[in-house]
This record gives sequence, structure tokens and C-alpha cells, in this order.
Amino acid sequence: DAPVEKYEYQAEVSRLMDLIVNSLYSNKEVFLRELISNASDALDKLRFLSVTEPQLLEGAAELDIRIQTDQENGIITLTDSGIGMTHQELVDSLGTIAHSGTAKFLKALKDSKDSGSDSNLIGQFGVGFYSAFLVADKVVVTTKSPKSDKQYVWEGEANSSSYIIREETDPEKFIPRGTSIKLHLKRDEKGFAHPERIERLVKNYSQFVSFPIYTWQEKGYTKEVEVDEDPAEAQKEGADGNVEKKKKTKKVVEKYWDWELTNETQPIWLRNPKEVTTEEYNEFYKKTFNEYLEPLASSHFTTEGEVEFRSILYVPAITPMGKEDIVNPKTKNIRLYVKRVFISDDFDGELFPRYLSFVKGVVDSNDLPLNVSREILQESRIVRIMRKRLVRKAFDMILGISMSENREDYEKFWENFGKHLKLGCIEDRENHKRLAPLLRFFSSQSEEEMISLDEYVENMKPDQKDIYYIAADSVTSAKNTPFLERLYEKDLEVLFLVDPIDEVAVTNLKSYKEKNFVDISKEDLDIGDKNEEKEKEMKQEYGHICDWMKKRLGDKVASVQISNRLKTSPCVLVSGKFGWSANMERLMKAQTV
Ligand code: ADP
Ligand code: MG
Repeated sequence: DAPVEKYEYQAEVSRLMDLIVNSLYSNKEVFLRELISNASDALDKLRFLSVTEPQLLEGAAELDIRIQTDQENGIITLTDSGIGMTHQELVDSLGTIAHSGTAKFLKALKDSKDSGSDSNLIGQFGVGFYSAFLVADKVVVTTKSPKSDKQYVWEGEANSSSYIIREETDPEKFIPRGTSIKLHLKRDEKGFAHPERIERLVKNYSQFVSFPIYTWQEKGYTKEVEVDEDPAEAQKEGADGNVEKKKKTKKVVEKYWDWELTNETQPIWLRNPKEVTTEEYNEFYKKTFNEYLEPLASSHFTTEGEVEFRSILYVPAITPMGKEDIVNPKTKNIRLYVKRVFISDDFDGELFPRYLSFVKGVVDSNDLPLNVSREILQESRIVRIMRKRLVRKAFDMILGISMSENREDYEKFWENFGKHLKLGCIEDRENHKRLAPLLRFFSSQSEEEMISLDEYVENMKPDQKDIYYIAADSVTSAKNTPFLERLYEKDLEVLFLVDPIDEVAVTNLKSYKEKNFVDISKEDLDIGDKNEEKEKEMKQEYGHICDWMKKRLGDKVASVQISNRLKTSPCVLVSGKFGWSANMERLMKAQTV
């Protein structure tokens, strides 16, 4: 026999297992969802690789998941014909926490400890493979990767800090490919080995798995059997005067066991949008992206003609946990399929500009080759068209949130993703028209609630030509700037650009609805109240003071001028028309430090 190797779990795994076994009791049934989702991932991986290496499918062509229950012994066996695991993969995958889902869970657990509520966290997040220990005290994994000619067995027990791996040497137990997970249920959980219960759970949890799931079910069919006539009957009939001897048939139910297809395998995006409910879209989102909050919006569409593809896009309710990098996002937010075959979730950057990297969704194309690579995507005309459509749909979806009756929805969106859209103003000239109406700013007339540019324009004075703004580091410092005095007096609204990126975004836009953005801190501000006569008078009276001041200040200022822009302050420092604003200078300084 092959030697048995004993391994210790990584410390985090031990801690997690301990939690699972000893404190997380609610909603144990999610173990099945987690194991099915792993099986489905393994099948996805195999299907993808087999596009270029068809020999991987040898031995077992069917890609499916089978769940068998042994009620008597309290055992559930879940088998998939997926990619399997090599020895090294077994150690890496089932002995360490190398995947995001579980790490996310541990973080949420920590956060919820701080806030004092950890109800149903497993239900929300899932803890992956280890959730098997919610119901089992012993788990045996048998696995065969097509990359290796050996088959391995992994065995772990609840309340143990170690597991074992051995090579399978009994030819009777050889499987062609894939993974089989045997759960020896805890004494109190043996009820899960009931075939009907498993069937119900599969239907409930695996609505969106695109591989067939079979469960082992007892069935029966009725057949008619011929029986000898009951002599008493015969006599009765004889009394009626019927003397003919008759054969009789009886219906009996024949019982047998067989595999039964238990799920619906049509992917949700292939269905008619009219027939899919919001709940189903949200469920799909949560299951596919491992999210527990409902999305803010979704959009399901098909495009035909030049390029054919189907897609469901979502706007998440929050930014991902942890520090997010909007400059180099590695999000895995878009799952690309070609003719229903999952290809990769690594191509977001090719399908969406980085400022829209927060959009999640699935895209299924009929026009791309199955062995599509990043290089192909980057050069493909089809992808360019897809990208354009996807971006447009994403904007429609965001616009939809902004028009929602519930103003809070968009406030939430803006808080999470406003920065992304501002980045878009800088990076995506082509979509300025779509981006600008989505922007929000505080203003001199709305310091609490942000307004849109449309609201600003609506509120403009009849003879007002420009959109005024002042950039500052906070609403408080913006509203206290002396530049505002005269605009306040004339009741002109001024946008407060208080996020460092605001000013760059606005200067990139240049104008909105043919109205230019004008920085009120720059020289030559014309708010339409020029009085030549008076200016001349002032110049005569104060001209020599200006000359004197310029002489005293020398190179520290470009010039000293008389202006009518102040009401109560005696003087103010302004930026040159073509120079950086004070705010920009502050930003540049901050960057060089
Ligand atoms: P996740 O699915 O989030 O990666 P899990 O704890 O559910 O985390 O699984 C850990 C890893 O174990 C998976 O990433 C995968 O590499 C491996 N694995 C689990 N189940 C299977 C399976 N049925 N077939 C192949 N690999 C599997
Ligand atoms: Mg998993």
C-alpha cells in the first residue's frame, strides 16, 4: 500500500474549521451549495482547457455532477467529472486559504465581531470547501487530475488540526477523472442523507449551475401483471351465468433506483428577459459573484446583427472590501463565455474601460473563437463593437439609478463610484456626453445635498452664460472664500469642487450644454456686470497704489490690479487666466512631496 502522508493545516484553516464546527450553526445546509459550486468550477475549468486539449475529455466525456445518498449509513457522496486535483493542488487547495471567498468571510467575521452581530455569515459568504464540516465529522476526497496519472485520497476530520493524503492503489476504486467527496454525516445531521431532502436543496441552491446535476432517487413504475383468478370471484361470476374462465390483471408498483436530473441547466442570460424576475437576477448575482448585498441595478440584453452577444450587467451596492485600486483594477468582475462555455474572468480590461471596472456581469458571445486569448481580444473588431455596446448599456443602467424615485440610491452609487466617473471624464472623451449628466457636486446654494449639472443649469439666471466653480479642499473653505462675495450678492450659484479629482474632471469636460465651466478664482472673471465708466474712475483713483504694491511685492505676484469682484474684502490673491488654480497648485505640490 502507498504510504499515508500527514499534513498540518495552515493556521487560518485550523481557526476556520474550529469556528465552523463549534460556533457557526445557522444555516448548515449551505454546505451543499458550496460543494456544488466547487464541482461546477472544476467542470468549467475542464471544459475550458479541453477546447485546446480535447484529449482531456478521454475516459469520461460527460460533464456532470452526481449526488448519491446512503441513508442507512448517513453518507452523502458528491461526484464531479471536472478537472480534479494533483497532489500539489490538494495540499494547496484543501490545506490553506488561498482563495478570496473565504478570506472575505474571515474579514467579515472580524468586522461583525466588532459590531456584535455574526448571524448567518456563512449563508451570506460561504466558507467554501470547509463548510462540509458543518454537517460531516469526516470528509474523504478522492480526486484524479488529467494532468497526473495518479489518483489521491484526502481525508480530514472535524476537530483535528491535521489531514492525510495517500495515493489510491486499489484499481477497483479508480475513477477516470474528477473529484468525489464523501461526507460521513455527524450523528445529528444524518437527515441530510435523505434523497428527497437533497433533491430539494439542489433545486433550491443550484438554480444557476450550468452543468446537469443528477441525484440518486428511488423511482417506481406501475405495471400490469396477470394473476390467477380468485376462486371466490369466479364463483360469483359463475352465479351470474358467465361460465367462461377469465384471466385477470392487477396493477403493481415496481420500485427501483436511478439517477434523476434535478436542476434546470439553461443559463439565466439565455432566457427571455421578460420572463426573469428581479429576484432571479439578484440571486444569480449573489451566487455568481459571491456577494451578499443585492445589486443597485441590473441590465439584461441581447444584441444582434453585426455582432451577437448576450449579457447581464450589474452595479454593485458597495465597493469591494479592502483597498481598491481604480488605476490598476484586477477585479474578475466580468465573466466571459463563448457559446455558453466559460472562458475567463480575467478579461475585464478588454471589455470595459478601467473607470467602469466596478461593473459586474456575464457576457456570452457567439462570434468569438473558443480558444480566445487576451491577444485575440485586443485585436478583435468584434470586441471593439462589444465594448462599445457594453459601455453604453452600463451608462444606461447608471442613468437609470440616477432617475430612480429614491434619491438615496444614487447617493449611494455616487459615494461608492463617483470617483470612477470623474476618472472617466479624464480618460474617455468620447463619452463626455454620457458622463456629465451623472456627475454630482456641492454648491453655494446646496451645501448639504449634491446637485447635478442639469439642476445647476436649470437654476441659472436668464443672462448667465457660464457654469461657475471654485475648487477648495472642503465645503467650508469653499464657502468662505472671498471670490464668492460678488456671486453671492448676485445670487449666482457656484459649484464647490472639493474632491481633488473634481477640478481635473471639470476642466476636461470644458463645457456642459454649451455652457463653459469657469473658475471664479481666476483673473478676468466676467459675471456680466461690467461698468466701464466706474472702472475708469477707480483706476484713476487707485492706480498709483497698485503700482506701489507691485513694486513692493516684485516677482511674488504677476500683477496688481483693480477689480470689482470683491464686496467686503479689501484684496484677494487670484490665479492667472492661463495658470494653475490655487487648488491645482496645492495638488501638484502634494504629488511631488
Ligand atoms: P473557492 O471555491 O472559493 O476557491 P473552496 O474552499 O470552495 O474555495 O475551494 C478551495 C479550492 O479547492 C478550489 O479553489 C479548488 O482549487 C479546489 N477544489 C475544491 N473542490 C474541488 C473540486 N470538486 N474539483 C477540483 N478542485 C476543487
Ligand atoms: Mg468554492
